[in-house]
Amino acid sequence: MTISNASPVTLSTLSAALHNRELSSVELTTDYLNRIERHSDLNAFITVDPDSALKQAEEADRSIATGNPGPMTGIPIAHKDIFCTQGMATTCGSKMLEKYISPYDATVVERLKQAGAVTLGKTNMDEFAMGSSNENSFFGAVSNPWDKNRVPGGSSGGSAAAVAAGISPAATGTDTGGSIRQPASFCGLTGLKPTYGRVSRWGMIAFASSLDQAGPITRTAEDAAIMLGIMAGFDQRDSTSVERAVPDYRAALDDSLDGLTIGLPREYFDQGLDSEVGDAVERALHQLQSQGVRTVEIELPNSMLGIPCYYVIAPAEASSNLARFDGVRYGYRADNYQDLNELYCRSRTEGFGPEVRRRIMIGTYALSAGYYDAYYLKAQKLRRLIANDFEQAFAHCDLIVGPTAPTTAFRIGAKTHDPVSMYLNDIYTNAANLAGLPALSIPCGLDSQNLPIGLQLVGNYFDESRLLNVAHRFQIESDHHLQQPTKV
Ligand code: GLN
Repeated sequence: MTISNASPVTLSTLSAALHNRELSSVELTTDYLNRIERHSDLNAFITVDPDSALKQAEEADRSIATGNPGPMTGIPIAHKDIFCTQGMATTCGSKMLEKYISPYDATVVERLKQAGAVTLGKTNMDEFAMGSSNENSFFGAVSNPWDKNRVPGGSSGGSAAAVAAGISPAATGTDTGGSIRQPASFCGLTGLKPTYGRVSRWGMIAFASSLDQAGPITRTAEDAAIMLGIMAGFDQRDSTSVERAVPDYRAALDDSLDGLTIGLPREYFDQGLDSEVGDAVERALHQLQSQGVRTVEIELPNSMLGIPCYYVIAPAEASSNLARFDGVRYGYRADNYQDLNELYCRSRTEGFGPEVRRRIMIGTYALSAGYYDAYYLKAQKLRRLIANDFEQAFAHCDLIVGPTAPTTAFRIGAKTHDPVSMYLNDIYTNAANLAGLPALSIPCGLDSQNLPIGLQLVGNYFDESRLLNVAHRFQIESDHHLQQPTKV
């Protein structure tokens, strides 16, 4: 078997080819390493480690030969550079951690390794996962393979660009306010943010701890089911991980959609939504209706307060989490300083980029005595109202569907001078983080510029199986997920 460029390669086909000995992991890994090099102009990777990847591939080939392979044995993947990887740089897209080498693997990395996956390297990302375009990386912007003058979305932009360009079969990402779903939407991929607590955050560099979740970025819902099954599960090292059995996510993929009720939030189809995105979402809904689902209109009256609520809570938590980068213990340290205060000031000013500094300032302000009640406490109350809206909506429907992002991928540089317009990218995504609900984005068409459009499915707590089931049935009867960029 050779890896074709004509149709997208999935984890399930690669796994079958490896098990049937149509190709070896060393051949496959070498092929992907070459592809990464050929597409270095995308800037999708921060670190690539060919020696370590090939060593892991040799080991995978041995375990296939001895008839003892795991579910992903021999399949190369990439990790967002927010996950700690033992012996390999973990930068989080920041100068602050440019030289940081973790002494341990994140739980997500460890589990995928145990399942046999080969790590190709670490993907580019917005610094400390703050951003919607991947332009906030210390290591430079990432290009969208569909149009290299456009952003791939963020903050998991490197992961999405790598999978869309076919230089990694799948990748991990993290999602605090939309950072898996929005890049998946911009790059024509399937991206899943699990229920808060479903996947361990241990070894994942913290941005906003009550919102952060890791998940897969893949070609298909079936591939997302394979990866989630490996990534999910209780971890005693993360006190917020939930002790609950992990279902076989593949088992329910083919379930019939008959009798399923989809809620359509009126608020998600209002002004601000690009008309081509709206039309593609409508067509996707018609398809789902023809496959047996019923639709009902629902209300999420507080959902549009998600942006102000999120942009108080996330920076507040970030300001606390990022206090550890003080230039003393680890990370970047400034060269010239007179005293301890200057050491802190210079190290943090030089080590963090402008967006991270902005968030630390906002968060510190919102948490300070005198403003805490007016901002942080208020935002926490709003967060409760947003979660209550979902609870009420799920009394009338099984899942909620709408657009993932208000537009398709925008041009590099188009929003860098206007943070608020950048923040508005999360308008449909961050409510799921605030409520802790699982949500997924799948491709549902291309706009007139040939750019992918994403459809978002939000489920009830721990209902990932249902999201994957609906996404899989949708993909069986459509070819949006098979479209590939032609320019790369
Ligand atoms: N765009 C959002 C932000 O900048 C979401 C980021 C994320 O999900 N990591 O905070």
